[in-house]
Amino acid sequence: MNVCSKCKNEITGDLYISKLNETKILCENCYYAETFCMAMSKIMQICKKYKNTNLQMHKEELILEIYKNNKQKNLYKILEIEKQQDKLKVVILPDKITKIIDIKDFEELIYIINNQKQVGIPNQKEVKLLRQKYKPGTKVQLIKMYDYISPVSSGTIGSVDFIDDIGNIHMKWENGSRLSLIAGLDEFKILED
Ligand SMILES: [Zn+2]
Repeated sequence: MNVCSKCKNEITGDLYISKLNETKILCENCYYAETFCMAMSKIMQICKKYKNTNLQMHKEELILEIYKNNKQKNLYKILEIEKQQDKLKVVILPDKITKIIDIKDFEELIYIINNQKQVGIPNQKEVKLLRQKYKPGTKVQLIKMYDYISPVSSGTIGSVDFIDDIGNIHMKWENGSRLSLIAGLDEFKILED
């Protein structure tokens, strides 16, 4: 008979080995509880690096507020973070986007959101310069897209379709995606013929 070293109940299902102490076996519930505790402390460490964040703990959920600046005045996004087995379920508000991610992807998510918040809308003169540089048909290769919804993969090649009035570079990517590039945020380069 196997007994969970945490809750002391008999383990009827799969056995799990504690990540904190490899000599201990755990039941599924205790294993995921342990994983979440580890994830939470990692989340706290990540958030400490950003002065514009405020992390609150509720019963089964973490609420992370991301502000536009370090004074915690203009709220930019709210993240509701819950455990989902050994992954995190993150709801990004006000976009209402749900993502199921590994803890290692959480740091990337916060990084992307923080990059996005810093991007302003280009003025008319800047849009004009963008249109001169990225004419329709210009071949572009993506280095990195700062988008947490469904970014185009790094290295993808596409051609410029047009640039709209707020400076978004509308693209026709080789993989069929039409996601636009944001100058000053996304990293990309022109491919010379
Ligand atoms: Zn247990």
